[in-house]
Amino acid sequence: MPRRTKIVATLGPATDTPEVMQTLVRAGVDVVRLNLSHGEPTDHRHRLELVRAAAWATGKDVGVLADLQGPKIRIEKFRGGHITLKDGEPFVLDAELADNAGTVEAVGLTYKALPQDVKAGDLLMLGDGEISLRVQKVVGARILCRVENGGELSDHKGVNRQGGGLSAKALTDKDLHDIKLAAELGVDYLAVSFPRDAGDIERARKLLQAAGGKAGIIAKIERTEAIENLDAIIQASDVVMIARGDLAVEIGDAELPGIQKHIIRRARDLNRVVITATQMMESMIHSPVPTRAEVLDVANAVLDGTDAVMLSAETAAGKYPVKTVEAMARVCEGAERQRMSASSQQRLDRHFGRVDEAIAMAVMYTANHMDVKAILALTESGSTALWMSRISSGIPIYAMTRHEATRRRVTLYRGVYPVAFDVMHTNPDQVLRSAADELKKRGIVVDGDFVICTKGEFSGVTGGTNSLKIVRVGD
Ligand code: PGA
Ligand code: MN
Repeated sequence: MPRRTKIVATLGPATDTPEVMQTLVRAGVDVVRLNLSHGEPTDHRHRLELVRAAAWATGKDVGVLADLQGPKIRIEKFRGGHITLKDGEPFVLDAELADNAGTVEAVGLTYKALPQDVKAGDLLMLGDGEISLRVQKVVGARILCRVENGGELSDHKGVNRQGGGLSAKALTDKDLHDIKLAAELGVDYLAVSFPRDAGDIERARKLLQAAGGKAGIIAKIERTEAIENLDAIIQASDVVMIARGDLAVEIGDAELPGIQKHIIRRARDLNRVVITATQMMESMIHSPVPTRAEVLDVANAVLDGTDAVMLSAETAAGKYPVKTVEAMARVCEGAERQRMSASSQQRLDRHFGRVDEAIAMAVMYTANHMDVKAILALTESGSTALWMSRISSGIPIYAMTRHEATRRRVTLYRGVYPVAFDVMHTNPDQVLRSAADELKKRGIVVDGDFVICTKGEFSGVTGGTNSLKIVRVGD
């Protein structure tokens, strides 16, 4: 059985050769992430070329995700690159200080309006929460703080407020440029950082479409406000990402496990895809083996029902990018073997509004209660396969389509595998047999296996799936 959980790997200096990229794809990367917070457009163009070349060489469809930087608030630079803060000492965040003039007393800010957004008593977390500062008072552009948790503080570390509520707009000027870049590159997914509500997602989608992009929109859940508006944000987007790095700082790490499970459940229930991200294999940046805690973290996300697990610095800048992907793939497969029960209680109480949705649900009920080898969804947009994959099952779902964009889109869906199949150039009376033959050729099924097929009355029509047929291969 192929691995059902998908792996997203962030690209970076550690993946910048054709050899590494190809090895990563062979090791199991399904989707790559271009992190627009780092690097220049030329870097991203070059990386995209490497991905396309590796996909071609391996014969695998590889999805591409471009991740906008968003209004990440950062400190500016220090004269000496870093300082050390001691507990109890005063420290100033100064929006008017020059960019590179930071000292042990004060440092500049990338977001000049921050002093207007904070007040005495707020707790500011720097660098994913390693350092915390308590705001004493705000004087003009200067935020006077006392160090609560000291340590080394280096250039450009991120700033969050515990409890959230910092009012920076979700799409910055840089993001507007990067949306055009994403459209030009033809990426499959665009991730919006720090959205506060559904409106932020809708704006990004409009801008992308105006630029000619067709990517699915990913909402990164990493702010307190996003949790408050969770259902509306999920519904406005195609995919949500549990961006645990910033999220944990805002809501407090103790809330994270519960929130992760809740987001995964809501996303699946609302027919959306979900990625679990950040620090999943963090120690593998430096080590060739994961910690036991990381093994359990990845496995637990799989058991929670996530579609995909994501690697950040582990692949982008780590010492062992390939070993990390191999370890992640192995752990996902192990966790999937624990899913002994194939039956599912999902949607039992649901009324289906669409014919293709009803067909997809009937397929999953049948697949989970019969000896079936595979599900073949002849699809245009991939939406039938998406519905199917929201139901827990051990049966692989093959999204068979002539559209390359659809094949790359479904790379993120749990248990769904893209197969190139041109329904328009197949004898209409033979479509299902040809589709089954395609899987036979690939060694996925053999004569005598049962498969379930779905298709529409008229080939080539989006949203037209209206039939389900159980076929015995070879008959
Ligand atoms: P980032 O998002 O890597 O862009 O910060 C992920 C996260 O915050 O966890
Ligand atoms: Mn983040």
